Amino acid sequence: MHKLVRKALTFAATAAIACSSILTNVPTASAQSIAIVRDAEIEALLKDYARPIFGAAGLTQRNIEIVLVNNRSFNAFVDGRRIFINTGALLLAESPGEIIGVLAHEAGHIAGGHQARLREQIARSQIFGVVGSLLGVGAVAAGSLSGNDGTASAGMGVAAASGGIAQRSLLSYRRTEEINADQSAITYLNATGQSAAGMLATFNRFSQGLALAGVQVDPYQQSHPLPRERIALLEDLARSSPYFNSPVDASLQRRHDLMRGKIAANVGGHPALQRAFNGNTANVGYRYGDAIATRLSGNVGLALQKIDALLAEQPNNPYFHEAKGEILLSGNQAEAAASSFQRAAQLDPNNSGLIRAQRGFALMRTGQPALIEQAISDLREAIGADPTNLSAYRQLSQAYGQRGDVANAELTMAEGYFRAGNVQEARIFAARAQQKLQPGTPAWTRANDIVTVGQ
Ligand SMILES: [Zn+2]
Repeated sequence: MHKLVRKALTFAATAAIACSSILTNVPTASAQSIAIVRDAEIEALLKDYARPIFGAAGLTQRNIEIVLVNNRSFNAFVDGRRIFINTGALLLAESPGEIIGVLAHEAGHIAGGHQARLREQIARSQIFGVVGSLLGVGAVAAGSLSGNDGTASAGMGVAAASGGIAQRSLLSYRRTEEINADQSAITYLNATGQSAAGMLATFNRFSQGLALAGVQVDPYQQSHPLPRERIALLEDLARSSPYFNSPVDASLQRRHDLMRGKIAANVGGHPALQRAFNGNTANVGYRYGDAIATRLSGNVGLALQKIDALLAEQPNNPYFHEAKGEILLSGNQAEAAASSFQRAAQLDPNNSGLIRAQRGFALMRTGQPALIEQAISDLREAIGADPTNLSAYRQLSQAYGQRGDVANAELTMAEGYFRAGNVQEARIFAARAQQKLQPGTPAWTRANDIVTVGQ
């Protein structure tokens, strides 16, 4: 894991240049990986941020995915099909507009076809993912499939994508393209009635290389600031918009605060929370993060009190129920946890497979044979809804194992490895499963498909 994280940092250090400067001579590196984070709440919020922007940019049909990268620096970048955004960016950005502005700028690059051929090559070469998945070979080593990874990820599934990358091609935009993306971003923001003040704040921060909220800003940004003329141009455009002084949507701001509280708690516990909210302990985001950080520090009873207080205020917040489920799981109250996840799943407007997988995992953790069947059903459904959730394959495999169904346990591991792009391991597990399965059944055929893939 450490190796992967270090590689990820190396990558970001180089990647950070991309959209924050006009440098064209980006250092190259041969093999890189990035750590990907999955989280239903954050993914839902970013989708809500992006939806109107993608609509205005004419990108709705492109099904651009937004991928969360577990990295503390402020960065965002695109390949042909995805926008990658660092958790560090989300933590640093104090208002929704700062992130919406970044998404708008990146959408501008995509819609403008900037470096499109090269970015499409990168997407096709599956540098950041394999078989249409977000999860690369490194995921298995990172513990997503082969073990429960409790490092920076509590409450978040962490995996990694890896592969060689010609970074120069992905990451360097031309100066004209940067200005063009800025202008497009302003157009999208105006078309959707949103202020560009947040975007301006973000790029001002880049240009000044300020380390805000105690989070380290990449040194590359400090040594290669944005040219003042680009900021000046952006500022003129932003201020000339009739929406420049539009107030921030209060419900989005609240969700944004909750997201930051969650990330801060996960990456740095209470000290990070204090910094993120400038000591404002009354902020709901702080309180949410406080409940999570309290769980991470091992105080289950106190964490429960804190999340229950939040639930009393917002009984229909699916993610509060999800957080409660995680606290209960930490306290080995698996059955109660399953109920919380069930409530979360019922309330989740996006029907996230991640939450359904958590319920399945909690049911499995009860160890009760009567609940294992439901766990299997939940996990299968979760994978069906979200085939990129690698930890769900591992959990489903364990659930089959608990039932004594070794063939399906192995087939599920094969599927997970296959999804992770590790064809070699996938074949090994598929071959083992195949020996135990009835020839001609769908499971046997699937195992056979994996065994013979590429042959
Ligand atoms: Zn850019």
